[in-house]
Amino acid sequence: MSTTSDTPTLKNSAYDAVVIGAGLAGMTGARQLARMGRSVLLLEQHSQLGGLAAWFRRPRGHVFDVALHGFPFGMVKSCRKYWSPAVAGAIRQLTDIRFANPDFTLQTTFDRADFTRLLTERFRAPAATVEAFFSHLRAMNYYDRDGRTTGELFEEFFPARPDIHRLLLEPIAYANGSTLDDPAITFGIVFSNFMSRGVFTFTGGTDAFIAALRDELLAAGVEIATSASAEKIHITDGADGLPRAAGVRVKFRRDGSERDIAAGAVLSNAGIKNTVLELAGAGAVPADFAAAAAAVRLNNSSAQVYLGVREGAEIPRVGDLVFTSGCSPFSSRELTAPDTSSRTFSIYYPETRPDAPAPRFAAVASTNQLWADWADLDAAAYKERKRRLAEDALAGLERLAPGVRAAIDWEETATPRTFARYTRHWEGASFGTKFEGLKISLELPERVAGLYHAGSVGIIMSGWLGAINYGVIVAAKVDEYLRRQRG
Ligand SMILES: Cc1cc2nc3c(=O)[nH]c(=O)nc-3n(C[C@H](O)[C@H](O)[C@H](O)COP(=O)(O)OP(=O)(O)OC[C@H]3O[C@@H](n4cnc5c(N)ncnc54)[C@H](O)[C@@H]3O)c2cc1C
Repeated sequence: MSTTSDTPTLKNSAYDAVVIGAGLAGMTGARQLARMGRSVLLLEQHSQLGGLAAWFRRPRGHVFDVALHGFPFGMVKSCRKYWSPAVAGAIRQLTDIRFANPDFTLQTTFDRADFTRLLTERFRAPAATVEAFFSHLRAMNYYDRDGRTTGELFEEFFPARPDIHRLLLEPIAYANGSTLDDPAITFGIVFSNFMSRGVFTFTGGTDAFIAALRDELLAAGVEIATSASAEKIHITDGADGLPRAAGVRVKFRRDGSERDIAAGAVLSNAGIKNTVLELAGAGAVPADFAAAAAAVRLNNSSAQVYLGVREGAEIPRVGDLVFTSGCSPFSSRELTAPDTSSRTFSIYYPETRPDAPAPRFAAVASTNQLWADWADLDAAAYKERKRRLAEDALAGLERLAPGVRAAIDWEETATPRTFARYTRHWEGASFGTKFEGLKISLELPERVAGLYHAGSVGIIMSGWLGAINYGVIVAAKVDEYLRRQRG
């Protein structure tokens, strides 16, 4: 049985695979490899597993979820297949999704049947067009190389209908950072995933989810080291002239000690740019590949305001997820502006954590934000911007639930700087990279044998479902590589 520890002790000095990062892709990849019989060391620089699938506790019994707003039904199948029936069994649907903006106010179950109803009856789009739109999305494929943007796709099916464009894109912009200018596939795949059955969540919260995954990792024999940062991926000359990943240098946060660990293969769940340009080092890969990695654009970051309701008080039923905005027409730029009027409220009712000692309510207001708008603020400006963000969030929640302010007894704000600090993602990127990052991630093992990447990348490989599925795909490639190495 393996251990989990944040002390600078590891059982071995060599592993079949070292996995850098315990985000959902890293955890899933590590477990898959262990189940295939590989010895696996999972390194996480933070003291907590899960990466962006994060939660935190605060005094007076508050627990806040950072990235548990909703995922597609596909999580049930992926969790059952790659984690456990118990994990899959705790997934339940969120049925009350709302929009409140100057263009429309509506309530939906956010699935194909209900969106077809809304588009045809409420927005008066022709039924045949709606059907053709859904069929087109379902048939979309990464390998089609369709050059259209999401904006162009919308104009083709619903010309001059910014209200419909908003209905379709606004939730997905919060789910993966995609904009009207990104390739249509980045919208199409994720939107279709949600439309298949709606929006789902994990009963018990992120803490219960990650605890269950951790138990499965240990049961599979994965050795887990937390507060253990990979500082460098060691690369040697391979037999066939291709550089080869041979191990990692680990730094233990607890005492600052460092240790070199040998690995047959390295699977990095750190950001793709970080993996190529810092951990491997730009000099370790061909110059054109390093340049292409450097040119990859990062996706936006986030800011969140966590609002905790005092024990005994409550938030009335105002929806599970509420997409709010004061802006019309919908604008991807306004969505990420520091003073945006657009924010999503996730309302956590007692059924989120049914086993909690007392029924608790919380709200998290999320905005998409750009690193550039936060990076260089001095301490006073930073504090003031956080204060404004929190005030806007509270005012927004008051509009949904008048009087709720009096029930709030915990308020806290996370910014792009917070996300960067806890995950080491460059620019605090919430959803990895823009589309071109996927190619770099996929081609990395062709440039450095035995070095693989799995994690949010290319917009489509992001979110809880995308990260888990990408971890599975890449683990199979790592296993195949290790088999080839053995001859
Ligand atoms: C505010 C917000 C809300 C979100 N809401 C949702 C949602 O509702 N539904 C949904 O499906 N998705 C949501 N997401 C996205 C989703 O959480 C992420 O796409 C997914 O969790 C990313 O998983 P990942 O495997 O790519 O790794 P990450 O979660 O990014 O984890 C990478 C891990 O690598 C570690 N690491 C980095 N460098 C090193 C190093 N050198 N050594 C050791 N460890 C290292 C980091 O500490 C981190 O733990 C949200 C994201 C954000 C930011």
